[in-house]
Amino acid sequence: MRRLPVFFVIDCSESMAGQPLVAVQEGVDFIMSSLRTDPYALETVYVSVIAYAGIVRTLVPLTELYAYQRCELPLGGGTHLGKALEHLAKEIDRSVIKTTADVKGDWKPVVYLFTDGRPTDDYQDAIQQWKAKYSHRVTLIVIGLGQDVDFSILKELTEHCISVDQINQEYVKGLCKWISASVVSQSVSVANFQNSEELIPLDQRYMNLAKSKLTFRKSHADDRVVTFIGRCQKLQHPYILKYSRNLQYGGLSDLNINLYNFKLETCEAISEEYFSWTDHHAEKPQINTSKLEGWSQCPHCYADTAFAMCGCGNLMCYDGYSEYVVCPWCRRQVSFSAEGGDFDLTRGQG
Ligand SMILES: [Zn+2]
Ligand SMILES: [Zn+2]
Repeated sequence: MRRLPVFFVIDCSESMAGQPLVAVQEGVDFIMSSLRTDPYALETVYVSVIAYAGIVRTLVPLTELYAYQRCELPLGGGTHLGKALEHLAKEIDRSVIKTTADVKGDWKPVVYLFTDGRPTDDYQDAIQQWKAKYSHRVTLIVIGLGQDVDFSILKELTEHCISVDQINQEYVKGLCKWISASVVSQSVSVANFQNSEELIPLDQRYMNLAKSKLTFRKSHADDRVVTFIGRCQKLQHPYILKYSRNLQYGGLSDLNINLYNFKLETCEAISEEYFSWTDHHAEKPQINTSKLEGWSQCPHCYADTAFAMCGCGNLMCYDGYSEYVVCPWCRRQVSFSAEGGDFDLTRGQG
């Protein structure tokens, strides 16, 4: 039987921390469970899930729908789109059966690639390779989540670029209903021996065809959000602080100047797995703490602040009164002075 391979390639970078990743996780769960109720999809659809941050890994190799087991999306530092495309190409070569003189191979694979930001690696070669070798034999649908997606890059990859304005449960659910309806419609057409490339109409409450936006960027890092990784001083466990861009002063419109700072959006525990999904060789940008607004308690031990910095440059929590503490990163003894002061911090890659 000819299979219809469907790949989900999902951005799990730091900027997805908190609600966006929860929404996407629910979305993937929703797609899989709704496909499993459809007789056409059950007959032909095989699914695979690939996650990428600073590292790319296959979470679910190409599997028949009924055997699919729920996977937990990770979180890591970086948005390595180039590496994700190379990995996807290898997975396609490895697992999709090609049609030959003797064998009727699989139907044309479909890929849904999710991203919420700009790539943080060198993606040009990967895009060229994709265009030359894969674009004619794979249907690629790129989904840009949120408002900070650089479609000028993504448009080079495919004409099917879809923009979802907000990364909340409602929008992502709307998107995922559309995705599962599209996959079902593909599986119905292959059951009738046609592989149609027509996408079903978008639900325009949630999605639009993306127009490419002109972007002027100096840095590779995603500057809609800034993230920091800390460790609990008492329990050693890691956590993430995520700040979102916030317009401080508009109104200087004559000068075309807007001033932004970053407001705390979430501070939550993360797993040690984070480090295995992060590219530790990537350059890490800096931000001055005067641009940050809002503190948080430590999500592990509830110490006063999750924002104490050791001389080694890493963040830990601090209870506000201990004279000496041991840095969970460099293991040196440190003391904190009462005076605050702004300092430069190394932020995550986005
Ligand atoms: Zn703590
Ligand atoms: Zn230290």
